[in-house]
Amino acid sequence: MTEEYKVECIKCGARFSKEDVVYTCRKCGGLLDIKYDYSEIDVKRVVKAKGEGVWKYRVLLPFAEETKPVTINEGNTPLYRCDRLAKSGGVDDLWVKHEGLNPSGSFKDRGMTVGVTKAVELDVKGVACASTGNTSASLAIFAAKAGIPCYVMLPKGKVALGKVAQAMMHGAKVFSLRGNFDDALRIVRVLCEEEKLYLLNSVNPYRLEGQKTIAFEVAEKLGWKAPDRVILPVGNAGNISAIFKGFLELKTLGITDSIPKMTGIQAAGARPIVNAFEDGKAEITPEDKPETIASAIRIGNPVNAAKALFAIRDSDGVAESVTDDEITESQLELARLEGIGVEPASAASIAGLKKLVTLGEIDRDEKIVCITTGHLLKDPERVIKICEAPKEVDADVDVVRKMMKGHGLKM
Ligand SMILES: *Cc1c(COP(=O)(O)O)cnc(C)c1O
Ligand SMILES: [Zn+2]
Repeated sequence: MTEEYKVECIKCGARFSKEDVVYTCRKCGGLLDIKYDYSEIDVKRVVKAKGEGVWKYRVLLPFAEETKPVTINEGNTPLYRCDRLAKSGGVDDLWVKHEGLNPSGSFKDRGMTVGVTKAVELDVKGVACASTGNTSASLAIFAAKAGIPCYVMLPKGKVALGKVAQAMMHGAKVFSLRGNFDDALRIVRVLCEEEKLYLLNSVNPYRLEGQKTIAFEVAEKLGWKAPDRVILPVGNAGNISAIFKGFLELKTLGITDSIPKMTGIQAAGARPIVNAFEDGKAEITPEDKPETIASAIRIGNPVNAAKALFAIRDSDGVAESVTDDEITESQLELARLEGIGVEPASAASIAGLKKLVTLGEIDRDEKIVCITTGHLLKDPERVIKICEAPKEVDADVDVVRKMMKGHGLKM
């Protein structure tokens, strides 16, 4: 691991100590980033690392050698080659990395294993977050493992059933706020500051350190080569920033020789980053009433917008939005062509791919990796809305047979 690192403001360059509990710059309010001295990092310890998952890449994580991680075997998710989906989308070389197969069912676990390990190092009295659902589910499992109190703030009536179930089951104190996600984040930030709880939303730069390992795993599986493009859903915009950072580190270390075009997909009803990208602006205009069935990306004021816009522009990528109908269609297609079950937000990456191919933005021969961020079972209520209901029938062979014939069974 790398004990030698700096916590630095991306805007004014101010530095903060490792013992400091700080989330944004005290001088200018800018986002913070963890910086390493890459000339000190032994490349062999990256490419020859043993083990699997997030902590395999510990040489690029901000901890002392002797730190014991709080881990539930997160990361090491499959990267599937998806030829049937590729054909339907009009491309030749398509891969899907299914982050829904993490311990709590979303990529958030990569960030939380690092974030909660940091919380233990800081000896905090508790951890907290605002969440559209998956952040709370993930924080709950790692807080349980670490044995520290966990407080989560959810927007009332706006969180998918599976996610609330996880937060409750793993013992988090769950608060249902009469407001939206952006309200919940504003409130939890004040409470963390005043009550000395450790904030584990993606504004916390340690979380992004864990999430950047998605890039390491993708590159390693492709023979230490970066794909031409990575497509993923964007909510608070931490993950796209983290994955970009991961690829940047590999290139800086001379392990890979290119950076994929970072392609961020938002929902049509919550697209502040797409608007800023299209208008050539460095800052977003927050949206008051974000609306989409993809609850994980129903966010109007993404905290990591500045990092994400830089990642998209610097990598020659693009930001685009898709409708709820396009998301639903892609969710069904991914499930039925490739056997990959994802929650709605994740399907935005596939819907975005299809739209960008149609618009001529994506070339047929690009090597593309779509990140599916969360598992299908997170949001079972959505499945019931969009799929045909089970057919109720008497428990009688002939009656069942007759009904099956009415549903495609060949004579
Ligand atoms: C958190 C989450 C996102 C959005 O990620 P950001 O880092 O907030 O942009 C997308 N999909 C799922 C399933 C998520 O849980
Ligand atoms: Zn600053």
